[in-house]
Amino acid sequence: MKEKLKVGVIGGGPAGSMVAYLLSLDGHDVTLFEKQKALSRKLCGEYLCPKGVELLENLGLKETLCSQFLPLSGMILSSPQGVVVQCTFPQIEKAWSGISLNRQQFDQNLLNLAITKNVKVKLGFNIKEVLKIKKGWQLLSDSFEEFDCDLLVAADGRVSPIAKKLKHSGKLNTSRVAIHFYLPRIAHKDLRYGEMHIFNDGTYCGIDPISDEEVNVSFVVDAKKIRSKNLHQLCQGYFQQSPRLVEMFGNLPLNIELKTVSPLKNINNFVAGNSLAYVGDASGFIDPLTGEGIYNAILSAHLLADSIRMEQNLENALKIYKKNKKKIQLQKKFLNTAFQSVIKSPILCKLIAGFIQKKKKRADFFIGIIGNIDTPLKGIVKMLLT
Ligand SMILES: Cc1cc2nc3c(=O)[nH]c(=O)nc-3n(C[C@H](O)[C@H](O)[C@H](O)COP(=O)(O)OP(=O)(O)OC[C@H]3O[C@@H](n4cnc5c(N)ncnc54)[C@H](O)[C@@H]3O)c2cc1C
Repeated sequence: MKEKLKVGVIGGGPAGSMVAYLLSLDGHDVTLFEKQKALSRKLCGEYLCPKGVELLENLGLKETLCSQFLPLSGMILSSPQGVVVQCTFPQIEKAWSGISLNRQQFDQNLLNLAITKNVKVKLGFNIKEVLKIKKGWQLLSDSFEEFDCDLLVAADGRVSPIAKKLKHSGKLNTSRVAIHFYLPRIAHKDLRYGEMHIFNDGTYCGIDPISDEEVNVSFVVDAKKIRSKNLHQLCQGYFQQSPRLVEMFGNLPLNIELKTVSPLKNINNFVAGNSLAYVGDASGFIDPLTGEGIYNAILSAHLLADSIRMEQNLENALKIYKKNKKKIQLQKKFLNTAFQSVIKSPILCKLIAGFIQKKKKRADFFIGIIGNIDTPLKGIVKMLLT
């Protein structure tokens, strides 16, 4: 696009900082508003899937953003019956690995990068109101009069206050809640694998070894469970069902800080048009089961910036972005729904665990689907042919 746009980005998470960086790199005049005065460590599994690592590498940003974090070689899966399968990310084109991040550092690295490319970053600015004006949008916060822009990018996360205000949010029917905490690591310190533990009642627990000292733990449970028990007892009960978790951590220490997050879903019926685009979680988010929210955040930012670069007309660019974003979202929805159904059925879990356990390559292709290395269809065909 030849015309240089004045862009307002709301949100300084991975989606907002990445889109601000990419648009500024293309010469647009970008201002990013973040409501926090300083970025904090978000409640997140902090696992960047291999496809996300590849995208950063292709953008020439992997070193700048991730040099202080450790790689992940694959995932260890544990079924409700206690079958444990170690899966390594399949090596298809390059040396695939995931990365264990620290979200505060990663988000800050990305924001710093945007600043080096002339993005004007306004921290502590909570955007309260957005108004459609003749050409573009007007943003209002508590701390300034008004800010007019040609393009508004809403990267305001899963809860997306902007989508709610503009009535772009869809109806949610979810009863899942995440419980999140950090633990010190006791056993398997040398093993650079993430873990996914599935329990009989459809609860699952993701483990990400951030460093030798710190492990990130996220449970996803039905909301009813946290109403009937305190969080510590609930998680301790699940730990006791898994000999591997007990071996790794012992008993759950009493002094850990457990936090909950919900809802774990966001539906956006609009996505883009009328000088406005949503990116990241704000454009749609499904349960954090396959750990790809960060990848989707940076991918949507990249797709939007690419469409704007290729098209001469902003509305055409937004149409193309919307089409591409919806296509990807549909594939993810299919994959996520399939995995959710498996997790809720102990018999299916047992069958799949038995099937992938028989051959190491089969297990690796399975985890390749979860890590976005292969599309679901390609991965399933490879598993069946192995
Ligand atoms: C329990 C859990 C575990 C997860 N684990 C993983 C994982 O292991 N791997 C993975 O890839 N993904 C994971 N995710 C998802 C991942 O955290 C998100 O997909 C990712 O943070 C999305 O980035 P974002 O930039 O779209 O939104 P966010 O990171 O949420 O950033 C949005 C920003 O907008 C700001 N903001 C909001 N409203 C306003 C406003 N009005 N004005 C100004 N600023 C505003 C917020 O302060 C925030 O900084 C997990 C999510 C949950 C809930």
